[in-house]
Amino acid sequence: MSAEPASPVVVDVVIVGGGMVGASLALCLAPLPITVAVIEAVPPASGANTSFDTRTTALANGSRNILQTLGVWDAISREATPIHKIHVSERGRFGSAVIDATQQGIAAMGYVVHNHVLGRALWQRLEREPSITVLTPASVTAMRTEASCVELNVEHGGVTRTVQARLVVAADGADSLVRRAAGIKAEQWSYEQTAVITTVSPERLHQNIAYERFTDSGPIAMLPMAGARMGVVYTLQPAAAVEVMELDDGAFLKTLQAAFGWRLGRLSQVSARHAYPLALTRAAAQVAARVAVVGNASQGLHPIAGQGFNLGLRDVITLAEVIADALIAEDAVDVGNAALLDRYGAWRASDRRTLVGFTDGLVRLFGSPWQPVRALRGVGLLLFDLSPTAKTALSRLSLGFASHMPRLARGVPLPTRRTPHAHT
Ligand SMILES: Cc1cc2nc3c(=O)[nH]c(=O)nc-3n(C[C@H](O)[C@H](O)[C@H](O)COP(=O)(O)OP(=O)(O)OC[C@H]3O[C@@H](n4cnc5c(N)ncnc54)[C@H](O)[C@@H]3O)c2cc1C
Repeated sequence: MSAEPASPVVVDVVIVGGGMVGASLALCLAPLPITVAVIEAVPPASGANTSFDTRTTALANGSRNILQTLGVWDAISREATPIHKIHVSERGRFGSAVIDATQQGIAAMGYVVHNHVLGRALWQRLEREPSITVLTPASVTAMRTEASCVELNVEHGGVTRTVQARLVVAADGADSLVRRAAGIKAEQWSYEQTAVITTVSPERLHQNIAYERFTDSGPIAMLPMAGARMGVVYTLQPAAAVEVMELDDGAFLKTLQAAFGWRLGRLSQVSARHAYPLALTRAAAQVAARVAVVGNASQGLHPIAGQGFNLGLRDVITLAEVIADALIAEDAVDVGNAALLDRYGAWRASDRRTLVGFTDGLVRLFGSPWQPVRALRGVGLLLFDLSPTAKTALSRLSLGFASHMPRLARGVPLPTRRTPHAHT
C-alpha cells in the first residue's frame, strides 16, 4: 500500500536528527522568534535511539556551561560524576601523568553522564517548548533545494509529508542523508579498531579519577561513575573485539584486568557489553546552499579523547548565535541565507580542524608499534607529568579552539530582540 500525502509542515529551520546534537540545537533555538521542527527517526523515549544508548559521555567543562545556560544541567547534574583527576599511563612502560583539577584551579576536569540521562533531560525540555514541532518516529527520505527554501520528504505515521524550511540542519549522524543530498562530500575511514563498552565494579574506590591507559591493542578508558562503578571503553582490533565479546563474564574480566592492571584492585560485576566499530568521518564543508552540518554529520571522531559530543555542541551554539544575530540585525531575515551560513562555517573552522587533527594524531601516536615512537611516548608522558604549562594547555582543550567563544558557552543567553547592547 503506498503512503498517502499529508499536509505540509512549513517552518524557518528544520533539524534532521534529534540525537544528542540535534536536540541540543533545538533547545538553543527555542527562545528565538522563529519556527523550528525536529525530525527524529527513533523516538528517544523508546530506549532504541542509538544516540541515547547505554554509553556514558565525558562532558567537558565548556559543555557543562552550555547545558546549564540551556536550563538542562540541573536535571543532568544529579546523575553526573565529576572527574577530579585524569591519570594517563602506558602498559609495560614507566611513564605516567596526572592532571589534577585542583592544580588547574577548576572544580572538575569534566563530568561523566549516562547518554540516556542526557537524552531524557534534553527531550523532556524539548517537548515543553511550544515553538518546536517534533515529528517522531519520522525519517527524511529525500531532499530538494529550491532558490528560497528546501523541501524534505518525511515518512511519518505511515504517510509521506513534505516539510519546507529556509534552513535545513544536518544532525543526522555520521552517515548523514542530508549531507549527501546537499552534495557535501565526506572522507570516512575505519581505524580498524572496535570499542567494547561496559561497566565494572573496582575493588578500590575510584576517588573520581578517570584513567586512560594505552596498550598494544589500543587505549582503555575507565571513567568514574555513581555507585562506585567505572565506565569502560576498551579499544581493540576488530578480530580481538569479536573474541572479547564472546567471552563469558569471568574470562572477560580476566582479560580486561590483564590489560588495565591492578591500579583499582580486582575488577568485578561486569554489565552487558556493546561493540562500536571506530571510524573517522570528516565532511568537506559544514555548509551548502540552505544547509548547515553539525555534530557527527560534520565530524565523527575516535572516542580516545572523549571529544565528539563536546565538539558537536560547539557547532550547535555557534550556529544558534549566528542565527540569533541575524534576527537581531534585520527584520524578516532569511535564516538560510548564504552570508549567515558562511559566517557559521568560518567561525567553526579553526576549532574543528584543531580538534579533529588532535584526536586523529593521538590515535596514530598511541597506535604506532614502531619502537622509537613507543620509547618517545614513555618519555613524553614523563615530561608531560613535569610540565604545568602542558597540563594547563590540555585542560583548556575542553573549552575549544575558537578565537571567540559563542555566548552560550560563556553563560550568556542568546538575545531574542533588539536592545542597545544586543552584541554581547
Ligand atoms: C564508544 C564511544 C564513546 C564516546 N564517548 C564520548 C565522550 O566521552 N565524550 C564526547 O564528547 N563524545 C563521545 N563520543 C561521541 C558522541 O557519542 C557523538 O559525538 C554523538 O553521539 C554525536 O551525536 P549526533 O547527535 O551528532 O549524532 P547521532 O548520535 O548519530 O544522532 C543522529 C540522530 O539522527 C537520527 N537520524 C539519522 N538519520 C535520520 C533520518 N534520515 N531522518 C530522521 N532522523 C535521522 C538518528 O536516529 C539519531 O537519533 C563517543 C562515541 C563513541 C562511539
